Amino acid sequence: MNIILLGPPGAGKGTQAQRLQTDVGMVQLSTGDMLRAAVKSGSALGQKAKDIMDAGKLVPDELMVGLIEDRIAQPDCAKGFILDGFPRTEAQAEALDEMLARTGKKLDRVIEMEVDEQALTERVVGRFTCARCGTGYHDKFKRPRVEGVCDVCGSKEFSRRKDDNAETMKTRMAAYRAQTEPLLPYYRAKGVLKTVDGMAAMDEVYRQIRAVLAGA
Ligand code: AMP
Repeated sequence: MNIILLGPPGAGKGTQAQRLQTDVGMVQLSTGDMLRAAVKSGSALGQKAKDIMDAGKLVPDELMVGLIEDRIAQPDCAKGFILDGFPRTEAQAEALDEMLARTGKKLDRVIEMEVDEQALTERVVGRFTCARCGTGYHDKFKRPRVEGVCDVCGSKEFSRRKDDNAETMKTRMAAYRAQTEPLLPYYRAKGVLKTVDGMAAMDEVYRQIRAVLAGA
């Protein structure tokens, strides 16, 4: 099964995608993670994307489409994928339709994670991840069980995203509203859109997503 998790920054797309990947074996395709890896490695893509990401703006469509097209073609994606952070514009959605049609793949569900905008900045500004295994934490909502030690791998190193600050969030939210929100009617018209309550507790959001997938 191939799905998209759609929602503004801080909606919980990455958290839910990670859990689905672990439990169901679908592959999480986070374009944000791919871009951050490209920035870290200093590749040509990373050099182009860095300042745009730090400013909270969107990386040009042609770069994103090329990135996802290469990734979807890899053999592990045959067992199903979860798009997390892609598509973010109508041009990306159209390119995705086209590449799926060309490769005989299908989009089964688009899951909108509906959230209260007021809560997003608080969620985003407090989040951090284990630098070794990528497990996500939050200053207020999900601290490690032992202070300063990752619950999953025991690492003592954590990192915070440079764009997870209140100022950049304003630009990221504006980009979401202007460019990504129009994808809701786009997918509704195709009959694949389902909505879950992204403000519910993490386990409940996950339960709702699994219910959507079971009905797919
Ligand atoms: P995310 O981790 O999904 O919040 O993405 C972090 C940043 O990466 C975004 O603010 C954009 O600058 C960039 N980015 C990620 N995915 C896309 C995409 N599909 N299109 C354009 N820019 C993207």
